[in-house]
Amino acid sequence: DRDLATYGFLGYPLLQAADILIYKATYVPVGEDQSSHVELTREVARRFNSLYGRASNFDQLVAATLAKLPKDDARYFEKQRKAFGETGSAEALAKGDGMIAKAAANINGWTSDDSELLQGHLKGSGKTILTEPQALHTEVLRLPGIDGIKMSKSYGNAVLMRDDPATVSKKIKGMITDPARARRTDPGDPEKCPVWQFHKIYSDQPTRDWVVNGCKSAGIGCLDCKQPVIDAIIEEQQPWRERAEGYLADPKKVHWIVEMGTERARTIARQTMKDVRSAMGLTY
Ligand code: SF4
Repeated sequence: DRDLATYGFLGYPLLQAADILIYKATYVPVGEDQSSHVELTREVARRFNSLYGRASNFDQLVAATLAKLPKDDARYFEKQRKAFGETGSAEALAKGDGMIAKAAANINGWTSDDSELLQGHLKGSGKTILTEPQALHTEVLRLPGIDGIKMSKSYGNAVLMRDDPATVSKKIKGMITDPARARRTDPGDPEKCPVWQFHKIYSDQPTRDWVVNGCKSAGIGCLDCKQPVIDAIIEEQQPWRERAEGYLADPKKVHWIVEMGTERARTIARQTMKDVRSAMGLTY
């Protein structure tokens, strides 16, 4: 029943895609629920590269770049390209990529443009103008909040990076558990409990085994079970809290860091827009 005819459904994901592509991001650290956005971004990059990546003098540019390689390497590279084009062999693609990496490391005057050109040549897609990013997931893709639904600051169910130890302890102790464990003597199932997701991140194998056995046999209580998680989070946060103190005391330093980062990002964004405009023939 949603009205999908509004521009928002196209514009919003494209805006996100642009925010990733303009900085030539290779990895985007996202939760599972954002994976589809990264996938869409990859599609946009692929489509753009295949539409605009093949400049009219592409073949001459490739020939000039190949000429920078030692003859045997160039021949070997072409062999891999042919094999990949004919069979889609992942091995050939990896070998071709390896040759490009080798050239980038060893040949004087080799540029990132050279690498991108040969990557396009290798894959048959032309020059890579927009980099296809990969989603970077943690082992646990979705971390629940203390109420068991998606953790979000706006839901008020999050453990914050600089929560003090007492707050962390209070939040985790109040976390919902498997509803089957209404009483201490009721057995439960870790797979039905959000606390288990935290154990998957924070606990070693012996602790996890202790949780599974103790939960299923009602041998441990939920507060016992939560304690290792509380201890691990507090220990993890300790250096964050210490590092934050210096910045909290010196806001100017924070502004300076933001400025420096902005400038680095702006430099890359400018270059991307230059490449995009030039590929599309928008030379103004
Ligand atoms: Fe969850 Fe641990 Fe309680 Fe089992 S014992 S329900 S895993 S908190």
